Amino acid sequence: MRFETRAIHDGQPPDPVTGAVMTPVYQTSTFQQDGIGRPRAFEYSRSGNPTRAALEAALASLESGRHGLAFASGVAATTAVLNLLGPGDHVVAGEDLYGGTYRLLEKYFGRWGVKTTYANAADPAQVAAAFTERTRLLWLETPTNPLLRLADLQALAEIARARKAWVAVDNTFASPYFQRPLELGADIVVHSTTKYLGGHSDVIGGAVIVSDDALHQDLKTYQNATGAVPGPWDCWLVLRGLKTLALRMRAHEQNALRLARFLQGHPAVERVYYPGLPAHPQHELAKQQMSGFGGMISLDLKGGFPAVEKFTAGLQLFILAESLGGVESLVCYPPKMTHSSIPPAERRRRGIGDGLVRLSVGLEHADDLEADLRQALGTGSF
Ligand SMILES: *Cc1c(COP(=O)(O)O)cnc(C)c1O
Repeated sequence: MRFETRAIHDGQPPDPVTGAVMTPVYQTSTFQQDGIGRPRAFEYSRSGNPTRAALEAALASLESGRHGLAFASGVAATTAVLNLLGPGDHVVAGEDLYGGTYRLLEKYFGRWGVKTTYANAADPAQVAAAFTERTRLLWLETPTNPLLRLADLQALAEIARARKAWVAVDNTFASPYFQRPLELGADIVVHSTTKYLGGHSDVIGGAVIVSDDALHQDLKTYQNATGAVPGPWDCWLVLRGLKTLALRMRAHEQNALRLARFLQGHPAVERVYYPGLPAHPQHELAKQQMSGFGGMISLDLKGGFPAVEKFTAGLQLFILAESLGGVESLVCYPPKMTHSSIPPAERRRRGIGDGLVRLSVGLEHADDLEADLRQALGTGSF
């Protein structure tokens, strides 16, 4: 069955007891057992809960994986994957990555002896050169946050496979509607379901999707042992979001494309980062490995931070806030918000300049969004 159909039905049949069409919120911590040593399908909601099971099955289906695991947040999902490693293990990570992932690698896993080398994942040769004898994991985002660079997943998966390392892809920006890393050779997909999958800025959640049974067993044991699981209400919210994911992603993309074109021609804008623009250096790769370009745009404003301050203060519709992927348009300043945990010198080295602004293009009418950008850019002394 096709994506739209699976998003609505997979893992979510009508409730077997009542026939409820929408998966019920099983707000219970524990489940009756038929006798000692004779539990039914569920025992205790940290280990498993029917609402969570529905979400996990749906997520696995949408990512073309065999197993899904839901977590309390995206960083909890990331932590679960990083805990597959042990002291002495080495990670190669794309250098343009979510600030919270960088913080986990540097501040927490580093002190347990897991070392990370960062490479520009847009350049497979650089990634290959970063591998050592001890490399067990290649961690990628594509498109990246916030520079919207792409990593060639097929090429990089081959490099990692030859060196017996897992490839994990944080697929939060593209969503499975536009990109399915497991189909391109990745072993592990991670999501912040807080973003497009939930889609309505009303829940924090995360997920890991894999196909390998042993990997799934390890991660599931970790999920139960450490307990960073989402409650049934949160699972239900993400499940409801999934049902309209295809529709929303198409609309996010349509609006983003329109705004990217508008910004590209604006005199106050130094540069626009959007994989859907032919001017994007990896536009061809985007067309190959993604079925759409998503709803995230970054731009460099002429005039650095003072211009950014005027621009963000002038916006009426775009809300200044962290996060992305909701129905409402957001604007964020990565250097001081999402990426503030990366030291300034390191940030600039990675290409995140002082004039960089990130837009999460929502589902408002494109005319209104463009008018808002136009008036806010007009307020600057560019
Ligand atoms: C938000 C985000 C995360 C972290 O997810 P939380 O749900 O906030 O814990 C990880 N990766 C990317 C790309 C994100 O945007």
